[in-house]
Amino acid sequence: MLSKCANPDCSTPFLYLHQGKLFRIEVDAKRDRVKLGPVGSEKKPVRRMEYFWLCDSCSSHLTVAYEQDVGVATVPLLSYRAAS
Ligand SMILES: [Zn+2]
Repeated sequence: MLSKCANPDCSTPFLYLHQGKLFRIEVDAKRDRVKLGPVGSEKKPVRRMEYFWLCDSCSSHLTVAYEQDVGVATVPLLSYRAAS
């Protein structure tokens, strides 16, 4: 649940939506995959929405990404961009 910053090393509590950055990650529970593109005419009902929040200071240098084996994790913005 959204109770604090998604960065495990940060303990900033989640208080206001307008602070920091909110991420919505759509997980296909059946295939254990994530849809990254825009949501189109999906027929599969088995999907899970997960929300993650990064505080102001963390969102300036971190983002939230989904890794196949790891699940959702925070990754540095620069390396995330370089990898994709
Ligand atoms: Zn933080």
